[in-house]
Amino acid sequence: MEFWQRAHWFATSLCNEICKFCFRPEFQFEDSPEVTQTLATKLVNNDIKEVIFTGGEPLLLKSLDSGLKTLSNANIYTGIHTNATLLTPKRLESLATLVDEIAIPIDSLDKQTQEYLRGTDCLLKVKKIFRQLQDLNIKIGIHTVATKANIKIKEFNLLVLKIMIETPIFS
Ligand code: SF4
Repeated sequence: MEFWQRAHWFATSLCNEICKFCFRPEFQFEDSPEVTQTLATKLVNNDIKEVIFTGGEPLLLKSLDSGLKTLSNANIYTGIHTNATLLTPKRLESLATLVDEIAIPIDSLDKQTQEYLRGTDCLLKVKKIFRQLQDLNIKIGIHTVATKANIKIKEFNLLVLKIMIETPIFS
């Protein structure tokens, strides 16, 4: 796959979190299945091979699934870059046939640091989702932002993350 065949789709500028480091772009968009399908079809017709939905929080996009369907029907690799707050077991099951990869946030394995950076302690939920993603055979991505609050422990954490990914240790 060529570099230009990978697309990041900024699905929405809306988000339900208030992370300290947020740098999401602000923009207007029309959240309708027609618009989303039209854009997805343009990607299909222009030989794009991989599309990662991001934002804001892409799971707030009401028409997300219609875009995902158009892309996955054309055998395009799809992913979602999410803050994980809206990933209930039911929602994950509905996404399992539409996405190849879901990336979830871990900025630190230290509860307090994660809470400081994200405004909420999402580690427990992320750990549960980690297991559910494995069970559903969805490829797992981790997204993270290095700041002065977590940079010193980042190297250690990333090593732990590597072990987590290679050896499921959550119960
Ligand atoms: S989850 Fe992402 S988009 Fe939302 S506030 Fe945090 S960094 Fe910004």
